[in-house]
Amino acid sequence: MSDFWQRAFAFPFLLFLFALLVWPIAGALPAALIFGIGMSLRLLSHLRNLAAFEKWLSDPDTQEVPDGSGLWEDAFSQLNKLTRQRRKDREQHAAALHQMEQATSALPEGVVILDEADRIEWCNPLAEHHFGLDGERDIGQQITYLARQPEFVQYLVKKDFAEPLVLRGTRHDDLVLSIKLIAYGGSKRLLISRDITHLERIETMRRDFVANVSHELRTPLTVVNGFVETLQDMPQLENDMARRALQLMGDQTSRMENLVDDLLTLSRLENEQNVLIEEKVDVPELMRTLYEEGRSLSNGQHRIKLEINSEARVAGNTGELHSAFVNLVSNAIRYTPPGGDVVLRWSEQPDGHTVFSVKDSGIGIAPQHISRLTERFYRVDRSRSRETGGTGLGLAIVKHIIMRHQAQLEVASEEGKGSTFSIVFPAKRRIAKSGAND
Ligand code: ADP
Repeated sequence: MSDFWQRAFAFPFLLFLFALLVWPIAGALPAALIFGIGMSLRLLSHLRNLAAFEKWLSDPDTQEVPDGSGLWEDAFSQLNKLTRQRRKDREQHAAALHQMEQATSALPEGVVILDEADRIEWCNPLAEHHFGLDGERDIGQQITYLARQPEFVQYLVKKDFAEPLVLRGTRHDDLVLSIKLIAYGGSKRLLISRDITHLERIETMRRDFVANVSHELRTPLTVVNGFVETLQDMPQLENDMARRALQLMGDQTSRMENLVDDLLTLSRLENEQNVLIEEKVDVPELMRTLYEEGRSLSNGQHRIKLEINSEARVAGNTGELHSAFVNLVSNAIRYTPPGGDVVLRWSEQPDGHTVFSVKDSGIGIAPQHISRLTERFYRVDRSRSRETGGTGLGLAIVKHIIMRHQAQLEVASEEGKGSTFSIVFPAKRRIAKSGAND
């Protein structure tokens, strides 16, 4: 810095000294003229450098930094160094970006970068294919202008991206996509799309297969069961062994019938064409029926209590909710040894959620099993489930029914102490006793 000022003032100072020397010899006017002309030439040199600098500034990316003279020479050389470094950095960034683009292009998923207003900033080729986009033409376009499915638009608006969205018919009618949005960098979002057409086809085949097999099994089973019952009622059947064999056949065919019925129920619930037929479900009334059904199932072996703490009704399907509730009551009785307690409760939370719960003092469930209970055929104790007539499908049915009602299943249990299964209905399904939604 001090060097700069020394150099900046050296010329005017020397010029001034020279003028002072000239003054006594040639007079004041020539001395002043020499100083004035010298300073003007200096000013001209500065202006020339400034002009070169301004010209460079007009297009710094393609032009070389000017050479400059005097004080400017150093400044321009520093600037030149900085510019070269900046170009190098830019090239490195561009190379890194290019590599990133290549990597995302190779991803087996579609990727779209959206800005805060859901405008497309960038997309990879697979996303172009999934949504019918053009990676150059559609940049800056709002994604909802190009992918207009109402469920997709709602998904973006709702801003709850915990669950992926399954989107059908985005571009080609037979394309099924699983869409996931990930927020990043403050207000930006990454839209990831995965082609699940094949998985969906396999899943449909599996569902159809189970439904068809169950359906085909039903008729022969009914026939066999009918004959077994007729034979059991025949008075001339005196042979003990035959009686026992018929008894066993009867039990097993009934078990198979229950299994087939549960499988058919599950197929029906899984079928997307089978929409929920909603009505006003009088849960308190349903609870009284359940209480009687529970008592008859328990056959006096348990203390069953009914607690109706709310008169609220819910919007839903009575038949389906009855089936879900009965499954929980039946489980509570089946997994509670004689003499135990079972409490059926209907209550309401301050936030408007309504809760159906079944509490038992039975065998309980170890924590590691709880998250898997709603899987088909998942049983903690296979033999106990069979002994008590379980099909292993009860909680899977419950899960499907409550999903159709946007409710949640909550399980609290302690091994050896008992369990509480609760179905929590969202506030929007609550109907006050008068009939108005609140
Ligand atoms: P299952 O027909 O075997 O009862 P579910 O789907 O109804 O089938 O239940 C799955 C498993 O969850 C049961 O096999 C049992 O191990 C466990 N379970 C369900 N309810 C209870 C309960 N109230 N107490 C203890 N275990 C339970």
